[in-house]
Amino acid sequence: MTAQIIDGKAISASLLDNIRHQIKQRTSAGLRVPCLAVILVGGDPASMIYVRKKRETCEQLGMRSLAHNLPESTSLEELLALIDTLNADSGVDGILVQLPLPAHIDTTCVIERIDPAKDVDGFHPYNIGRLAQRNPVLRPCTPKGVMTMLESMQLDLRGKNAVIVGASNIVGRPMALELLLAGCTVTVCHRFTRDLPAIVGGAEILVAAAGKAGLVKGEWIREGAVVVDVGINRQADGKLCGDVEFETAKERAAWITPVPGGVGPMTVATLMQNTLEALERREAGK
Ligand code: NAD
Repeated sequence: MTAQIIDGKAISASLLDNIRHQIKQRTSAGLRVPCLAVILVGGDPASMIYVRKKRETCEQLGMRSLAHNLPESTSLEELLALIDTLNADSGVDGILVQLPLPAHIDTTCVIERIDPAKDVDGFHPYNIGRLAQRNPVLRPCTPKGVMTMLESMQLDLRGKNAVIVGASNIVGRPMALELLLAGCTVTVCHRFTRDLPAIVGGAEILVAAAGKAGLVKGEWIREGAVVVDVGINRQADGKLCGDVEFETAKERAAWITPVPGGVGPMTVATLMQNTLEALERREAGK
């Protein structure tokens, strides 16, 4: 079997077209456009690329974007004060603090300071809790983007064995909650998991999110599986690769995402979707 490629670029382009259209409709109706505030602390090169991409996408959609580039030396108190100002600004719909933050800043404290109604990354305990209780509001972008991908393939997810490799707060754990909500039987693997090959081998849906290049060997993949590779790893030659050995995995999987061009563009498009949703929810008083 040679897998069909799940084209994240195409799926995200169609999602962005839809958002662009909704924003145009809002403008025609005299309503204001969504506004996303993106905060970057320090100069981490990968973070700078991600932030630029998010701001550019806002512009392409006709959304407002507020750029807050703060020096590495910014204190926790200064960052919290900025978040308080943005929370109180009725013209701001989404607040995104690019992670990772410098080591001297307490990330949990920062995430919890963002108004949950403006938490377009979906990382606030309120939003994670609502997802855990099957009543989601703003959902974490990467897992939600993966679900949009799977929905576009019109798979029946109910009862499927789903395996997630990685258990972080921003990808693995909310991914497990999303797949559980969709009716999958979910197994989450992490650095202490024993016999990863055997567990991966049982996966009808596999989501790899460990951040380890080539961790998942092609020969582990179950024949006919759907393989979603969230990992983004930079190789010695500068090229990006995922956590799954793509060339061998695609000989066994039915569907597979490439890296780059898979989950990455879905994450950015979902952030835009969440920002529009945050605005609409606040307007509707939800
Ligand atoms: P993280 O380091 O916070 O978490 C990694 C998880 O993988 C941990 O739970 C850890 O226990 C697990 N893990 C590590 N080694 C393992 C092993 N040998 N076997 C099983 N599990 C193992 O990382 P993260 O922030 O969740 O990101 C994971 C990857 O996804 C990274 O490559 C990151 O760049 C990428 N990412 C991509 C997107 C996107 O839009 N495509 C978004 C977010 C993160």
